[in-house]
Amino acid sequence: MRLILMGPPGAGKGTQATFVAQHFGIPAISTGDIFRANVGQGTPLGLEAQKYMDAGEYVPDEVTNKMVRNRIDEPDAKPGFLLDGYPRTTAQVAELDGMISFTGHRLDAAVVLTVNAEELVQRLLQRAEKDGRTDDTEDVIRRRQEVYAEQTEPLIEVYRSRGVLVEVDGMGEVDEVTARIFAALDDLPQS
Ligand code: ADP
Repeated sequence: MRLILMGPPGAGKGTQATFVAQHFGIPAISTGDIFRANVGQGTPLGLEAQKYMDAGEYVPDEVTNKMVRNRIDEPDAKPGFLLDGYPRTTAQVAELDGMISFTGHRLDAAVVLTVNAEELVQRLLQRAEKDGRTDDTEDVIRRRQEVYAEQTEPLIEVYRSRGVLVEVDGMGEVDEVTARIFAALDDLPQS
């Protein structure tokens, strides 16, 4: 099973990624989490990524692509994977296509979580209080939303035109959303 999970900042990708990956017995690969772990450990990758993340900008494609490529090459990702937060640009889509076709597989589904704008802001502000992420300040949140709208939202149409888009209502309780995702994915043909 090869899946991607999409949606604007605050849509609940990280929360749902864990449940979905567990359900299918595949690793959840979150680019945001990997960057944050590198920032925490002060690695060269972390130092490079941090300046973009704190400004709400995307880390450059070459850096992100290389990191995802290395992660997907790990043995646990051979049977499949769920990508949370990747791809986010058209260049990343092309890179991922190459990574997947190289192994003779295909992308099973691109799940997009839909949440209305008001609810997104509420969730991000709540998370800011709880987790203290350095990019959850009002200005940076606004910039992340702009960058998402400019660079990532158009990818939804790309995956729709390929017939792999699965739109899921991301409003409501966490377990309700999880159940919706499972229902949509359990109907897919297995590869
Ligand atoms: P959110 O989706 O809530 O904005 P993430 O934890 O997924 O948060 O990502 C945090 C930050 O990490 C992004 O704002 C960006 O700077 C960086 N990042 C994550 N994934 C990518 C990606 N695929 N391409 C470029 N930058 C990324």
